[in-house]
Amino acid sequence: MALLHNRVSQKELKELLFQETEPRTTISFYEYFPIENPQQFRDELYQALKDLKVFGRIYVASEGINAQISVPDSNVEAFRAHIYSLPYLDGLRLNIAVDDDGKSFWVLKIKVRPKIVADGIEDASFDMRNKGKYVNAEQMNELLKDPGTIVVDMRNHYEFEVGHFETAVEVPSDTFREQLPMAVDMLKDQREKNIVMYCTGGIRCEKASAYMLHNGFKNVFHLEGGIINYAQQVKDKGLDSKFIGKNFVFDNRMGERITEDVIAQCHQCGQPADTHVNCANDGCHLLFIQCPACAEKYKGTCSDACQEVVLLPEEDQKASRRGVEKGVHTFNKSRSRLRPRLNEINNINNQED
Ligand SMILES: [Zn+2]
Ligand SMILES: [Zn+2]
Repeated sequence: MALLHNRVSQKELKELLFQETEPRTTISFYEYFPIENPQQFRDELYQALKDLKVFGRIYVASEGINAQISVPDSNVEAFRAHIYSLPYLDGLRLNIAVDDDGKSFWVLKIKVRPKIVADGIEDASFDMRNKGKYVNAEQMNELLKDPGTIVVDMRNHYEFEVGHFETAVEVPSDTFREQLPMAVDMLKDQREKNIVMYCTGGIRCEKASAYMLHNGFKNVFHLEGGIINYAQQVKDKGLDSKFIGKNFVFDNRMGERITEDVIAQCHQCGQPADTHVNCANDGCHLLFIQCPACAEKYKGTCSDACQEVVLLPEEDQKASRRGVEKGVHTFNKSRSRLRPRLNEINNINNQED
């Protein structure tokens, strides 16, 4: 029987990747479509992609596929041909990452999951085939001219905070599964209006659009390929960007600047700033917005308490972290977690005054 999993150690695989001389192209894609037997689909896909030396992370569910992969440049066309030969996937939009060295993955992992995007929807009559209409960047700008259009941001708070469509409304929860019923409730009196939903890459808002239709909304649209694709089209076609600020993405840059507008504030001093950092105290690691002056003043930490820790010798820092799970605050409820800390900071400052 063919081997459908890796049997070589992670370390060896990583070394093999860095020995490769051929460049790789980083590609992401997703599609909602019915997969009758996800395990069988997964096994066949694994075999085909392994032959093409594809690395990356792919989720397969009965509702579709979501993939982030790298493909050796000489196999990109063969990869495309294979994907397009599968039912429902002909002509699928493949997003090619531009400034990426293709070294993010060194193994192919394809996992079967209950959903490609966890949604908490238990209603068996919910059907992803009935989804909103795609809009491209030009159509998005056109819809935005109508003051009656409601634009809904389906991302997390920390993403919205540094960049969003000018008139967008935020759905204030940190999890997508909570946002879905919340969006329905927030807009329950607007069922006849044009509702446009968007997210970073399109996968969440596509599901959200189907959920709105499922809940009786009539005119639901979603931004094709999300903000990433919108920004690209704005650049390529010289359009006016109605998205202001930064598009937060999970990479070293912590976001791509779309317009020069700085719409957020430093969480420590309140000055305009939109640079996300993780607290330099590894035992904290909180994600927050910090201006250069505060980065200097607090040594890259979120509070006096964390600053005290980073000033300790490494041994003592390790001791202080014992029993504290590293990274527990990462990318999660940044503001609500920060608020007690901000109060703490303000109290300390007030005492000093
Ligand atoms: Zn500041
Ligand atoms: Zn901290």
